[in-house]
Amino acid sequence: MSICGHCGAESTRIKTHFCEDGSRYDECPQCNPSDFEKVTDPSDKKIWMGYEAHPNEYEKQYDKDGVIYMRKPEYRAEQEQRLMEQTEEELEAQKLAVAKKRATRRTTPMTEAEQIAAVRKASEIASWIVASAQDGRDVN
Ligand SMILES: [Zn+2]
Repeated sequence: MSICGHCGAESTRIKTHFCEDGSRYDECPQCNPSDFEKVTDPSDKKIWMGYEAHPNEYEKQYDKDGVIYMRKPEYRAEQEQRLMEQTEEELEAQKLAVAKKRATRRTTPMTEAEQIAAVRKASEIASWIVASAQDGRDVN
């Protein structure tokens, strides 16, 4: 770890720029994320913020509280588009499920024989669950 000479953040990825006039300055992913692409390390267990993972898609801006990272309009539009597409897929799946239910749903009451069979089945399942519990097994 070193300390960024520009913002004071600790980072393993500080770039020092040497200028023609002999001066130099530091930048790090904290103070200039657009100059750093994310390095993917399998041992990275942290959750990366959007501006850390995709620094080139964000613009650094300042508000009254300090630095904020704003998605670039085209990146935002792309993400919103993706959300819309997902919603359409879900709507389609929902439509199919409703159509299937309409086509196959039961509209007549159970006969007496069906009721007896259903109760017997439920009773079998119930005694199986009781037996499992007595054996100390979990039933899911
Ligand atoms: Zn910095």
